Amino acid sequence: MALPVVRSRDEAHLYMDLHPCERCQSAETAWQSALASDEGEPARRYYGTCEGCGTPREFVFRLPERPAVPGPDDVLFFGGPEPSQLLDPGEWQLVADTGVRAGGAPATGDPAVDGERKRSFELAIAAIGEILKFIPEGHDAVPESAFWTPHGRAVYQENPKRFRRETLQRWQAMFQDEMRSRFAD
Ligand SMILES: [Zn+2]
Repeated sequence: MALPVVRSRDEAHLYMDLHPCERCQSAETAWQSALASDEGEPARRYYGTCEGCGTPREFVFRLPERPAVPGPDDVLFFGGPEPSQLLDPGEWQLVADTGVRAGGAPATGDPAVDGERKRSFELAIAAIGEILKFIPEGHDAVPESAFWTPHGRAVYQENPKRFRRETLQRWQAMFQDEMRSRFAD
């Protein structure tokens, strides 16, 4: 059975990274992908072999009716203005937290290490952008009904104030400043 709509390649890969092999818990798989059909609807199938235990792995995602196109400045592109159907806002918050933790160490001067840390910050900034997409027009916070996973709901219940528009935008701006000051080109 196919999963809900995936909006972009980056979103597919993030989802797959968050869903490791059921047998050995490794998330390492060299994914290949191909167009597929799910009950007559266009879909994309990702397939590969788990590098941990050799088990064949597969995800099939539905495709959006109209694919969104990344802008020139989108380093990471999870999709157009519509909210994700794969990760709920609480899960995006966990992604942002992980990104900031991974990116937060001081710059080392080693381009490979610093490049990786900068990408972690970019992930955090993009993830907060994804949470903002769950706020309905004219509202100032993500509604509780937008959280559909146990993980995501737990994050919300821990601190609902994190999901206010103003708070999210403040965090996003702080991460942008922090990233610029740490990784000045
Ligand atoms: Zn495995």
